[in-house]
Amino acid sequence: MADNGHGYGNGRDGGQTLFTNVRILDATGEYPYTGEVLVQGNRIKQVTRGGSSRFGSGSSSGGATVIDGMGATLMPGMIDAHLHLSWNNAPGIDPIQMMELEEHMLVTMEMAKLVLDAGFTGGRGAAAAKPRLDVVAKKFINQGRFPGPRYLAAGPEITTVGGLGDAAPSHIPHEGLNLGLVVSGPEEVRRTVRTLIKYGVDSIKLNLSGEAITGMGAEETPMSEEEVAMAVSEARCRNKVVSAHARSSGSVKQCIRHGIQNIYHASFADEEALDMLEAVKDKHFVAPGIAWLINTARHAEQWGIKPGSPVTMEYERELEMCVETMKKMHRRGIRICIGGDYGFAWTPQGTNAKDIQTFVEMLGFSPMEAIMAATKYGGEIMCMGDELGMIKEGYLADMILVDGDPIANVRILQEKDRLLAIMKDGQFHKRPQLQEQRRRLTA
Ligand SMILES: [Zn+2]
Repeated sequence: MADNGHGYGNGRDGGQTLFTNVRILDATGEYPYTGEVLVQGNRIKQVTRGGSSRFGSGSSSGGATVIDGMGATLMPGMIDAHLHLSWNNAPGIDPIQMMELEEHMLVTMEMAKLVLDAGFTGGRGAAAAKPRLDVVAKKFINQGRFPGPRYLAAGPEITTVGGLGDAAPSHIPHEGLNLGLVVSGPEEVRRTVRTLIKYGVDSIKLNLSGEAITGMGAEETPMSEEEVAMAVSEARCRNKVVSAHARSSGSVKQCIRHGIQNIYHASFADEEALDMLEAVKDKHFVAPGIAWLINTARHAEQWGIKPGSPVTMEYERELEMCVETMKKMHRRGIRICIGGDYGFAWTPQGTNAKDIQTFVEMLGFSPMEAIMAATKYGGEIMCMGDELGMIKEGYLADMILVDGDPIANVRILQEKDRLLAIMKDGQFHKRPQLQEQRRRLTA
C-alpha cells in the first residue's frame, strides 16, 4: 500500500487533489464538519464547508484528482513530540547503543517508515543513538528517497558524568559505549554543542535529570546552571532548538530559567515549578513520555523487567506522580504533547497513537484535546505552528483520512486499516483505495 516515498500526487507545485465528502477534523478545536479540502502542490489551497463540489465527482475532474472520502474523517497527520527514530524496538538501551553503525542506519530508516505508516507525518527528534543517524535519516526522507515523517533531527543526549547515558564502566572509560555525550564543565558543553551543530542537528538534547532504570535517580538534577546556560546560548546563536530530559522538579525549573522550550517528562514538577511554568506557558511544551512509564512498569516482563521489582516500583511511583502533575498542568493551560518515548521492544515504534488514548483515559483530556495535543501542538513543537498541524488554507498538506470518528473513539487512530490515506507534503504515502478498503472493513 505504501509507496516507499516516491509519492503519488501533486508534487511541490504541480497538480491538485480534492477530498470530497469528508468530515473535516481541522484540529483548531472546532467539532468536525462535512466539507471538501483542495490540495495544490504541497499545501492546502481551499477548505470548503458543506455540500457537493464545484468539481463534481469522478476520479479526475477540473484538473484535480478527486478522492471521495465517503464520509471518512480527514484530519492533520499526527506528530510525535518525543521521537527516537534510531531507537530500534530493541529490548533495552545496550542493544541500541552497541549496534554497528551500518545496520543502525538502515534500521533507523525502517523505524521512520513504521512511524509514517502509523499516520505520524511529523516528529521532533528527542535524541539519536549515534551522532548523525537522525541527520542522515532526515536528509534522505526530505529528498524523497525513503519514507518517513517530517523530522527535527537530534544528536545524542548531552549528559553529565554518571548521568543518564553514561554507562561506561570504570575500566573501559570509552565514549562510544555511552548513549550520551558525557560532559563536565561549560567548555566541554560548548565543544559538544558546536560539534553536533556541525554534524547538522536541528535540536540539542540535554539530560537534566536522572532516570530510574539507570544509576542516577529520576529526582536528581545533575547538570550545573553554567553548563545548561552554555548549551542554550551555543544552540541559540546558531538558531537551534533545545530539549531536555527533565524528570526532577529542579530540572524543570532549569528549563524555565534557561528558556528550554521543550520539556520532556516533568513528572516530579512541584507547585513552585508549576507556577513558574504557568507564568511563561506560551514559551514551553511538556511531553510526558507516558507510554515509557506505563509499559516499563507493567508490560516489559517478557524482557526481564518484572512487575513488582524495585525498578518497576519506581516507575509505578513516577507514573502516579506524572498523572497528577499532567492533570495539574492541563488545568493550568500548559501545552502538553503526545510522544511516549517509543522505540523499545515494550514500546514499539508505530504504536505512537496509543498516547492519545492514554491522555483521554488517564489524564482527563477530552478526545478533542488529546487529538490537538497530537496535531496542533505538534505543529508548534516542530516550530511550524503557522503552517503545520491543522487543516487550514495555506497549511502544509500533511493529512490522514480515517475510517470512523476519532472524537467518538480515539482508539481507532491505532488501527492501521482505519488509516485510509496518509498524505505528507501533498504526496500520498498511502494512497486511498476507499471502495476496496471499506468493503473489506464492513465485510
Ligand atoms: Zn526519550
